[in-house]
Amino acid sequence: MNVSVVGTGYVGLVSAVCLAEKGHQVICVDVDEAKVDQINQGISPIYEDGLDSLLEKNVGVRVLATTDLRRAVLDSDLSLIAVGTPFDGNEIDLKYVRIVSEQVGLILKEKSSYHVVVMKSTVVPGTTEEVMVPILEKASGKLVGRDFGVGMNPEFLREGEAIQDFLYPDRIVLGGVDKRSVDALAALYEGFPGVDLIRTNTKTAEMIKYSSNSLLATLISFSNEIGNLCAKVGVDVVDAMHGVHLDRRLSPILATGERVYPSSLTYLAAGCGFGGSCFPKDVKALIAYGKQVGSPMELLQAVIDINSAQPQRMLDLVKEQYPNLDGVKVAVLGMAFKPGTDDIRESPSLPVTDILVSEGALVSAFDPIARHEAEGRFGSAVRFSDDLEGAIEGADAILVMTRWKQFERLPELVAGMAKAPLVVDGRRMLAKDSVPRYRGIGLAPDA
Ligand code: NAD
Repeated sequence: MNVSVVGTGYVGLVSAVCLAEKGHQVICVDVDEAKVDQINQGISPIYEDGLDSLLEKNVGVRVLATTDLRRAVLDSDLSLIAVGTPFDGNEIDLKYVRIVSEQVGLILKEKSSYHVVVMKSTVVPGTTEEVMVPILEKASGKLVGRDFGVGMNPEFLREGEAIQDFLYPDRIVLGGVDKRSVDALAALYEGFPGVDLIRTNTKTAEMIKYSSNSLLATLISFSNEIGNLCAKVGVDVVDAMHGVHLDRRLSPILATGERVYPSSLTYLAAGCGFGGSCFPKDVKALIAYGKQVGSPMELLQAVIDINSAQPQRMLDLVKEQYPNLDGVKVAVLGMAFKPGTDDIRESPSLPVTDILVSEGALVSAFDPIARHEAEGRFGSAVRFSDDLEGAIEGADAILVMTRWKQFERLPELVAGMAKAPLVVDGRRMLAKDSVPRYRGIGLAPDA
């Protein structure tokens, strides 16, 4: 199929490269000329494991990037819209979706062959048909269902594992305004045999995406609430959650006696909070949507409240031993909201570092991938180090904020330090007896 992908961020670029890998001809469109140039040179503008090599392999063969939306839509059968849908405090901001819909509509006016416009961005239920379709129809002077198709195909990839997630999805949701639109989407995903395809309408497709992210965020806040209780009453949350995981309704035992640990269990672990460009934004957007339609989302509001308070727990643990942070040397390890990505959006490291700096701590930091992004955010307020050793040198306290594999070396490095620093483990990734002065989320001092 000839496909255009509008918006080449995490979702757009990964989708484009993976669809090319499946044999489609893909034209990537972005307003950002620098990104377009980079993509055409085979260089990924974002860090994502495996993306560079797939891009290099397909660029110039089955992937081409351009700023020319008109050419891309005219030369393709289907367009995936993957622009950002940020949350503006009250609701999701659809300005990029509106702009692209209008532009695509104007191009459809001059296009004689059937084209399907597919919403790939995360949008609240109803958006595709109530916002995108009227704009497309007005700009094109054509009728959806008769002259062109419209679909909604939410994306479930996780940053850090995006290529694997796209190529080996748990399910593919094909929402459409009519059978022809859904069929076109089904043709796009023909190269994914054995994967559950959900054929549905656009509103259900939109709801599936939000419900899915909201459930995962709920599991995290649930674990954090349990962890905070554990810390108060002398229980280690790691032990408590281990016992929870062994329930066969969560990790089933096969007839062979083997236990299945679904990856969702990684969401049932306490830590310093979730971040990223999706969970916080999507949960808040669903809360706002519920309010708008008269169905308050009280559980999800609690999920957000718990998560917002969680980074402060890291500071509380430091302050138990350093009540006055002025002049205290603190190393913040990890700026990315999760390992495997350079994305620092809504990372719990950001508020923690802001407070440390504002209270006079001398902050050093290390992130294996996200240094550039974090330096842009903090400037000279934080001393960024090239390596783990440099960041922790002379530190009074070390905060583990991201579960980067590289940080597993910490106990060995701490053992070589003249004065043992306090290590506050925000991801519970180190053994609690692996360093002399250990504190962790969900762990009482004496547990
Ligand atoms: P992003 O901010 O990384 O990328 C958006 C891209 O769209 C940017 O490159 C921007 O320049 C481009 N753009 C903006 N206006 C444009 C226009 N008029 N024409 C062409 N390009 C334009 O966003 P993202 O993280 O890829 O997210 C995109 C959507 O996918 C969002 O709705 C998000 O919620 C959803 N989503 C994201 C993830 C994720 O892990 N990042 C996962 C699933 C779903």
